[in-house]
Amino acid sequence: MADPVTAGERRAGLTELAARARACERCPQLAAARTTVVFGNGDPDADLLLVGEAPGQDEDRQGVPFVGAAGRLLNELLAEIGIRRDEVFVTNVLRCRPPDNRDPLPEEIDHCRGYLLETLALVRPKVVCSLGTFATRLLREDPASIRAVRGRAEIRTIGRSTVRLLPLFHPAAALYQPSSVELLREDLARLPALLELPAPTPAVPPPVTGDGDRPPQAEAPPEPPADAQLGLF
Ligand code: SF4
Repeated sequence: MADPVTAGERRAGLTELAARARACERCPQLAAARTTVVFGNGDPDADLLLVGEAPGQDEDRQGVPFVGAAGRLLNELLAEIGIRRDEVFVTNVLRCRPPDNRDPLPEEIDHCRGYLLETLALVRPKVVCSLGTFATRLLREDPASIRAVRGRAEIRTIGRSTVRLLPLFHPAAALYQPSSVELLREDLARLPALLELPAPTPAVPPPVTGDGDRPPQAEAPPEPPADAQLGLF
């Protein structure tokens, strides 16, 4: 199915996806313990999408991501570079709070991944910031530590979305390490210039050569896996 093009289609798609998430019980422990499903919020037409780790206690109660102390820090740092929170779309690796704020389990991340891929395909941001280790490892499909890759923008195809990905420290971690706040501020300062760049396009495989006089043919990019197309799996 073609991705929605108009703002109305994107909103309708996100509304339908959020309804599916609210009924989701793929992670039994999380579904039993949650108060709300924190799907994500913000501008459905945003050029910038932020991906955190999982809802905390405040987020679980209010059903909105990044509303606690870490969210306030994030909002302040975004404001410093002229970006309002309501101009971006914010979501998480997990949509349900892990008990006692424990780390997300690999199977939980796998269960919830489809919602993130589908959200990306609906919002179609130019730039994605992965906040912290779990979001960065998921979106880069690489176990590199956040310290090794933070602040380095790269073009990535995630599901069926091609974006500029900028890994950042998670603001919650920065709260506990004041030196990290400066690094987070320094990395966020790259965002305005990244948002000015044109939307990235998927990498085209190198042309086929050595076939007589026929012009080289660009191969079609591979189809995304079925689970990414469906959004849920
Ligand atoms: S974390 Fe995601 S996959 Fe797991 S129950 Fe919640 S919405 Fe479903």
